[in-house]
Parts: sequence; structure tokens; C-alpha cells
Amino acid sequence: MKDWIKETPIIIAEGRDCFIKDIYGRWYLDGVSSLWVNIFGHRKQEIDDAIKEQLDKIAHTTLLGLSNVPAIKLAEKLIRIVQESFQNVQSFPEQSKRKVLSKVFYSDNGSTAVEVALKMAFQYWRHKGVDGKNSFVSLNNAYHGDTLGAVSVGGVDIFHKAFGPLLFKTYKAPSPYCYRCELGKTYPDCKYACLKKMEDIFKGHSAKIAGMIIEPLVQAAGGMITSPPGYLKGVRKLCDKYNILMIADEVATGFGRTGKMFACEHEDVMPDIMCLSKGITGGYMPLAVTLATDEVYKAFFGEFKELKTFFHGHSYTGNPLACAAAIACLDLFKKEEVLKKLQGKINILETWLKDISDLRHVGDVRNAGFIAGVELVKNKKTKEPYNWAIKTGWKVAYHAREKGVLIRPLGNVIVIMPPLSISEQNLKQLLKVIEESIIEATAKKHSTHKSKGKSIE
Ligand code: PMP
Repeated sequence: MKDWIKETPIIIAEGRDCFIKDIYGRWYLDGVSSLWVNIFGHRKQEIDDAIKEQLDKIAHTTLLGLSNVPAIKLAEKLIRIVQESFQNVQSFPEQSKRKVLSKVFYSDNGSTAVEVALKMAFQYWRHKGVDGKNSFVSLNNAYHGDTLGAVSVGGVDIFHKAFGPLLFKTYKAPSPYCYRCELGKTYPDCKYACLKKMEDIFKGHSAKIAGMIIEPLVQAAGGMITSPPGYLKGVRKLCDKYNILMIADEVATGFGRTGKMFACEHEDVMPDIMCLSKGITGGYMPLAVTLATDEVYKAFFGEFKELKTFFHGHSYTGNPLACAAAIACLDLFKKEEVLKKLQGKINILETWLKDISDLRHVGDVRNAGFIAGVELVKNKKTKEPYNWAIKTGWKVAYHAREKGVLIRPLGNVIVIMPPLSISEQNLKQLLKVIEESIIEATAKKHSTHKSKGKSIE
């Protein structure tokens, strides 16, 4: 708070396309999609119109004991899209029909989507008559939201440690963080030693484990940590082998960010439960869904007196304005061929990442499609990190801000996650500014040493 008060805050008044304008009239490129939510830019005509049209009908009505038209239409659309996206997976012999995601449970943000998933997985086993499955497996460096259930399955000390005494106990498996492998191994010689550790947990405790929760392909808030190819599929196989529900938290990765609609598609993995939020409304309104397979749904299907009801409902669950925005957003994905057009931009991003990996203080560059992280280090050779308290990541962000670009780092990791609709020209400008800002923020004054490539040190 002291730093915030010292600085001049940026207060946003309007936006257009990939730019946002502050109250002093300065325009900034929205380099992190307004916290990873924006897909088509700001003031997107079709989404604006959909919300206005819905506003003329009704703004809000509860989903508790009722339903509403946009919520139903959106659920149908989502299931169609999910089933199209996972077409290949459905044909896997081990995936029976009951294991296809086919039901939608609404809530209103990523954290609540995760809370729903955890409670649903827990109660699923109760309803199936299986007692004792009271715990979860999650990963070190995981981030699933800020509510206490989500924090319990989190693994980022800086965000989560303070709340330790309030959390339920979970089993933690190693993070697939190849640049800083916690098992001291090197990929691919490691032969997925982190998965082996996970299997040890499953083997020893599967009778107590209701579910395994994972951010597929990218541990986002943990530092844009990308897992090696095959890792996610390995997790799915272990969950099948040990009878554990697999929960995919696609809150950050869903809706095209990784180059496919859902990150799980990259490894032909169908989770049992999937959490979506952020991009679902194109970054317009708070909305989230927890998708479940028919198998999970059926466990809750009972007579009133059986009390199989899933008691979880928020006041703004399935808000009609938000659902209308989401329907417009999903229509735009098709109409504007977002995923097809994204590939060229992913190539630009990947070329740039390769290029800047030569910089003296760039320790690691990583991406999963259009989600990228650049990890800055004090010493490239030893991988010694910058002390977090000197705010190196933020220094980069401040330099970028002066050049009209807004980014938000995760510690020493510079995050690149612009709206999917960003033009190639604006993307190149964003990357140029970030590169210059990294060079400026990591430069040591009076040093004449020049590293290979472009560092000015
Ligand atoms: N899960 C993941 C993977 C996330 O990245 C986030 C937010 N960054 C959340 C859950 C929580 O979402 P929200 O902030 O909407 O509660």
C-alpha cells in the first residue's frame, strides 16, 4: 500500500480495441488483457450490443429454483463447443460416454468455479457410497484462486502461506517446472520423475483422495510455468489408474489462450470436471462455469428426500447479462476465426521469445500458445534469482508504462498475454516495448560488459 500511495495511480476511464485510456487522457496498450480476461479488445460491438439487448429484457434473476434464457442457451452452446473441441478424446477406448463433459454448473468467478469443483468431487464419492475420499492432490506452484478452498489447493507461498492455519490439508505433488526442477533433474532425461512422485502419492493414499486439480499446460500465476509435453496426459492416466477425479482448472488457459479452445485438447485429455471463467465473456462480465461429466452429474440425481442436492449457489450465478455477453463472445470465436488467425501471432511471439533469450538477464522463456513468461535472473549461469523485494519485474513494468504499455509481472516473470484479437502490428510494438524495458530495468549503470545478443549491459 505504501508503494501504491507513493506512485501516481493509473485510473482507467475508457477503452477501445486493445487500448485503455486513463483519466488524464493517456492511452495504454492492454498487455495483459485486463488480467487475462479480454479476448476481442474493449468496446467490441457485438458484445456491447448483446448486453444492451439483454438489458432491455432483464438484468438479473436467480438460478436458484429458476433458470433464465441466456443461461440455458449458453449452456447448450458451451457443451457443443466442448464436445467439438474434445472430439478426438471421446473416441479413446478408455473414455466411455458417461465420461464426456456434458453438464454446466454456473458461478461468477474463477475461484468459485474451483470451489464448486472441489465440493462436487468430494460429494460425488459420498453419493457413490465411497467414504474416506476427503482430500485432494494439487501441485507446488499451483494457483486456483483466492477463496479458502482454492487457496488450500494452491502452492504459491507468497500468496498462500500466510493463510496456512485456515486451510484443509492436501497432498502436494512436484511442480513440472523444468527450469528449476525441484527434484534436481533435467528434462527429458528425468523421464518425468515428477509424475513418478505423483504416482507415489496416489499409490499410498488413493483411498483418501477425491480429486487431483491441475492448471493444464501452464501454471499461470505461479510464474507461467509450462509443463513438458506428455505431462498432462500422464496425469490423466494416473487419475484413471487410481480412481481419482481429474479437475482441470482452465480459468486462465481456456478460450483460445494456448492456441486451442482448451489447453487439455493439446494432449487429448478429457478431465472429469473443468473450471472456466476469465475469457468466457470476452473479458466483459464476471461469470464462471464448472463443467462435469454425466457420470458426476448422475451421482447427484436423486429424490428430494435423498438430499443429493449440490448445495452451492451464489446470488449472481448465471447472471443473464453475463451469459448474453458470453454467447456473443463464443459466436465471435467462430465468426472471426480467432484460433486460425492466432497461429501467425503465436509464431511472432515465439520468434521474439527465442530472440530475447540471449539477453543477459533472461534466464528462461516459455510459452503455451499465446501465454508467455520471461523469467529474469540475476545470474544467468547459476540461475540465481533477483531478490523479489527489489521488484525487478515491476521495474520492467514501470519502464513499459512510460512507453504506453501496461503489463503486470509475477515476481521476476514478465507476463505477455494480450487480447487474442491484437493486431500483428500492435503485438510487435508490445514486444518491442517489453524488450526495451527489460534491457533498461536490468542494466547496471557504468558497466561496459556486452552479452551475446542485445543486452546493453
Ligand atoms: N484459476 C486460475 C488458473 C487462475 O489463473 C485464476 C485467476 N488468475 C483463478 C483460478 C481465479 O480466478 P478469479 O480471479 O476470477 O477468482
